[in-house]
Amino acid sequence: MSEFDFDLITIGAGSGGVRASRMAARTGARVAVVEESRVGGTCVMRGCVPKKLLVYGSHFAHDFSDARGFGWDVGEPTFDWAALIANKNAELQRLEGIYHRILRDNAVTLLEGRGVVTDPHSVEVAGKTYTAEKILIATGSHPHLPDVPGIKHAITSNEALDLEDLPEHIAIVGGGYIAVEFAGLLNALGAKVTIIIRAGGILRGFDEDIRATLADEMEKSGIVIHRECVVQSIEKRDTQYSLRMDRNETFHCDKIFYATGRRPNTRGLGLDSAGVETNSHGAITVDDYFQTTCASIFALGDVINRIQLTPVAINEGMAFVATHFEGRPTAMNYDFVPAAVFSQPTVGTVGLMEAQARAKGPVDIYLSRFKPMKHTLSGRNAHSMMKLIVERDTQRVLGVHMVGDDAPEIIQGFAVALKCGATKQNFDATVGIHPTAAEEFVTMRDKLPEHDEDD
Ligand code: FAD
Repeated sequence: MSEFDFDLITIGAGSGGVRASRMAARTGARVAVVEESRVGGTCVMRGCVPKKLLVYGSHFAHDFSDARGFGWDVGEPTFDWAALIANKNAELQRLEGIYHRILRDNAVTLLEGRGVVTDPHSVEVAGKTYTAEKILIATGSHPHLPDVPGIKHAITSNEALDLEDLPEHIAIVGGGYIAVEFAGLLNALGAKVTIIIRAGGILRGFDEDIRATLADEMEKSGIVIHRECVVQSIEKRDTQYSLRMDRNETFHCDKIFYATGRRPNTRGLGLDSAGVETNSHGAITVDDYFQTTCASIFALGDVINRIQLTPVAINEGMAFVATHFEGRPTAMNYDFVPAAVFSQPTVGTVGLMEAQARAKGPVDIYLSRFKPMKHTLSGRNAHSMMKLIVERDTQRVLGVHMVGDDAPEIIQGFAVALKCGATKQNFDATVGIHPTAAEEFVTMRDKLPEHDEDD
């Protein structure tokens, strides 16, 4: 009989925690998972899923308007925000039930409450202490709000997913993927949207052609982007907010939304009691096998802040179980992790951006911009961009990037090709599917003339 209550206690029943817990339980381990909020975590309750449902809802605005060019008369469509939110919430409740069932079916014990580490083998939950041979911290991250006077008036993505009414005019501070996704969906649904960014462009960390193309498309659709400006203070007057900007301008809106990054959930977790160290970003430091500076404590997902995406947390969870419960040491491979932005139009990307590839050596760039066939009849002024980055010496494709409809669906397949080491010749030898946008990726033959990325 083990001296511990469990073989594994996981803190956090989100994407990484649930996957690791149930896979560990399948090996015969006695597993408990601690959750202080809703089982399913950020992705299911406050992130990917509700966001994508709202994005789907917003697409109908384009569809009704596009339909006219194809001979449809759909009358004057009306939209009910409350109905969309209620239906979205019903779906989240259904998914929460599924996650509870997954834990039950895999004999994972759910401990409800906030988990705090009290020593290398103990976790306190709701006044009771439980012991385990191993502890896994998968507590995720939370929205970061900067220290600006009046910041208490700002909402974050948590609240934006549950607004009672569609705002008339919303200011979104931040230019990352969450900011541009909400900007796109709220704009399509009829809100006036202004993005305020400190930097010169949106989507820092993405290829420059993606950043510029998406910004153009967003601005064409009516979203205003204020670049290189900083909010100094926020004041509430009746139902309106005034934002004082650094250039002495004042700006008014009826909702203010901060999407200024996320921070790992480590505060108050009791990490000091077990000697678990964090880095300068507050993320838990782990080795290749997710072991922290305390030998019996492990961490993965957003809380280690490597790549904050659900499939990454899930894959880390599986690598953790393979290593520590199945006797197969498995390090997570972070090469060619594809990513999407559910902006309007969408972005899909895998591999290196041009600047990163150039830093490694000479590259050939293939780039195509076009009006999608659908919009020849819809009349919508929308364009797509596709880009291939090829290592000149080996002709290996290092990066595939797209802005345009269905980009995330298209890029997933190309991620497999890049993972397999595909070359430009492999792309050229692949027959396209006609008529699609995706075929452009296998028909681009003319590389761009030599240029510096800044040109
Ligand atoms: P989480 O899923 O956040 O789970 C952590 C869990 O731990 C939470 O349930 C929390 O309540 C719980 N917890 C924290 N502290 C404690 C404690 N002390 N005791 C008990 N429980 C605790 N990723 C994508 O791949 N695609 C997307 O389209 C996408 N869209 C997103 C949109 C938004 C608006 C946001 C915010 C995120 C989005 N993400 C997306 C990111 C994705 O949600 C996260 O990367 C993912 O959920 C991380 O999983 P995790 O297991 O590390 O943490």
